[in-house]
Amino acid sequence: MELVDLPVPSPAAGQVLVKIEVSGVNFIDVYLREGRYPAVLPFVPGQEAAGTVAKLGAGVSGLAVGDRVAWNGTRGTYAEFACAPAAALLKIPEGMSSVQAAACLLQGLTAHYLAHDAHTIQAGETVLIHAGAGGVGLLLTQMAKRLGARVLTTVSSQQKAELSLAAGADKVILYTVESFVEEVKRQTDGDGLPVVYDSVGKTTFDDSLKCLRPRGLLVLFGASSGAVPALDPIRLMAGSLYLTRPTLKDYVRTRSELERRAADVFGWMAGGELNVRVGATYRLAEAAQAHIDLTGRKTSGKVLLMI
Ligand code: NDP
Repeated sequence: MELVDLPVPSPAAGQVLVKIEVSGVNFIDVYLREGRYPAVLPFVPGQEAAGTVAKLGAGVSGLAVGDRVAWNGTRGTYAEFACAPAAALLKIPEGMSSVQAAACLLQGLTAHYLAHDAHTIQAGETVLIHAGAGGVGLLLTQMAKRLGARVLTTVSSQQKAELSLAAGADKVILYTVESFVEEVKRQTDGDGLPVVYDSVGKTTFDDSLKCLRPRGLLVLFGASSGAVPALDPIRLMAGSLYLTRPTLKDYVRTRSELERRAADVFGWMAGGELNVRVGATYRLAEAAQAHIDLTGRKTSGKVLLMI
């Protein structure tokens, strides 16, 4: 990644130019940079930000210059200015900082659909969340607790274990030194789990399947350790298992769905029910270091670029 000067973009019809204050750093930015997801080079990375409306494109209504807004899902936020579709912008509620808004949006919406819709967590269920001290992991843990689940998490260090416990995890497994399959068996009296949330991918996938009870669901929602190799469906016969590979955009398909999830996330934060941990902040010129730290498992919670 290279820091370069580009002209300030002009908003097309239906778009808004935003002066960015804070950009989120997410694993999807890494996948695009590495070429794991296709992208035409060169491009401006980043698809989550908060800032102030600087100019309205033709046909935009309901927004004004100076409004504080946040959005995700449109590329180009590692920058001082970006154009975003008006339909993707959310007004930042009074009393919420740009840092908080950028920190909770993409990962908060993700945790929201994972807990409520990819699988609907029931009170009393035991669930497993890998990378429990990560950005999504900390939020998903809190949402699962809110729904009454017993939460098991995996993390790679004692320091991360403490963060995961503070977020509400009932049992934290150090998956770099102990078998999470064995611990899950112990924790469930050998029954297995109704659901495993796996964003780690390559290194955890096989064992995640082994943690499920008959008719259990593996929600594979990321590949932080690398992509999972092709799978023969016959493997799901080991317990009539279910597998889904969800992605956020399919769970915010309409403006009303986006607003409903965002209202919950913002509302829970404002009410003190949901805590967002900003684990690391960098300047725009340090974006490469942010990626090195995120992929090097050095971060916990949200990673942000302060523009
Ligand atoms: P995290 O903060 O969770 O960082 C990734 C974590 O994965 C690391 O901190 C690390 O935790 C763990 N990990 C395990 N093995 C590795 C490895 N080999 N290399 C790097 N990390 C590893 O990131 P995010 O919260 O931003 O994202 C979490 C996951 O969720 C990502 O895979 C991302 O793609 C996915 N995601 C999916 C979405 C969707 O809709 N499908 C939307 C948003 C995110 P530890 O050190 O404890 O092992």
